[in-house]
Amino acid sequence: MITNTSALRDVLAGHGVKPTFQRLTILGAVMDNRSHPTIRALHAALVRKIPTLSKTTLYSTLELFAAKGLVRALTIDPAEVRYDGVPAPHHHFHCTACRRILDIEISCTNSRAGEIHGHRIDEVHGYFKGVCRDCRANDGRSVASPDRNK
Ligand SMILES: [Zn+2]
Ligand SMILES: [Zn+2]
Repeated sequence: MITNTSALRDVLAGHGVKPTFQRLTILGAVMDNRSHPTIRALHAALVRKIPTLSKTTLYSTLELFAAKGLVRALTIDPAEVRYDGVPAPHHHFHCTACRRILDIEISCTNSRAGEIHGHRIDEVHGYFKGVCRDCRANDGRSVASPDRNK
């Protein structure tokens, strides 16, 4: 996990993004949050560090990071875009009961070669939907989601 500022600065510079204080703080927040946060959740956490941060600025910064391959925008939850600070390819499971999004570490054999039927693959998204292990154990009643209790 990248939490120190000089490592974050190297990551941004290495992707051709000018490392400002605001960008470093936002990138650190996304990379440290493993729950695939929404804009709302990220904004709530970040305004404590950057009181002047608007949701619009946060959104455009995340779009920039996504375009540079630093974060991934997930559309697995039709209600809200979720952000992933782990850019390495992995799949996701969306629990329709508690709305958590869990990482699923399986490799997609079709995409390993980097191309399919002559098309170049830039991104691979594997989305699974259903009821997570915790909610199933809880007899179908959803477990508390940190995002929902805001
Ligand atoms: Zn669940
Ligand atoms: Zn993920």
